[in-house]
Amino acid sequence: MSKILIVEDEKELATILGAYLSVEGFETIIANDGEAGLTEFANSDISMALLDIMLPKVDGIEVCKKIRETSDIPVIMISAKDGEMDKVVALGIGADDYVTKPFSPLELVARVKAQLRRYQGLQGHKKAEGELVAGRLRMNKSSYTAWVDQEKLILTTKEFELLYFLASSIDQVFSKTQIYEGVWGYTGICDDNSITVYIKRLREKLGQFGLEYIKTVWGAGYKLSVS
Ligand code: CA
Repeated sequence: MSKILIVEDEKELATILGAYLSVEGFETIIANDGEAGLTEFANSDISMALLDIMLPKVDGIEVCKKIRETSDIPVIMISAKDGEMDKVVALGIGADDYVTKPFSPLELVARVKAQLRRYQGLQGHKKAEGELVAGRLRMNKSSYTAWVDQEKLILTTKEFELLYFLASSIDQVFSKTQIYEGVWGYTGICDDNSITVYIKRLREKLGQFGLEYIKTVWGAGYKLSVS
């Protein structure tokens, strides 16, 4: 069962979030300040963390940074005002998503599920030694190398991550937003145009091998298809 750490000093809000997540079958651990949150993180097998930014003792940004020193679990930041998020993004603290108060608990639950799905998807591939095969394309996530047949496909880190993301779910259509969240999270600077540019470059590189695996699904997004 996925164990979710909620670090939030507004006790009522923490309890409400805990209740919503429990209904969905998640186990929750609530900590009311940053220090307690880090202790729980160290002592429990946490699958994901929800971090309020303004916290007593250690703030949410510091908690996130500490978690990132040892773990790549999904982290969603909770902020009291819009401006705080600029800081999260600017500092590149490695959070995966964020919500601004007031938010609907159901929306947060949806985001929690999306992050866990994405993360567990990546974990599943990691377990298979990070190796993925899609038609003539082969990718190894642990070494960030890709091949077409026996030839090496030279990719930048982000090109690799984008192609790996698409190739992890063959024939699944991803919107630009999903691609953005799955590949860049909220930690990198990226927009619609960048995704278009990355897709174009990947197509060119695959095209050198005669592969047209990346398909545009008009009005919906992109998918990787080997047929
Ligand atoms: Ca707070």
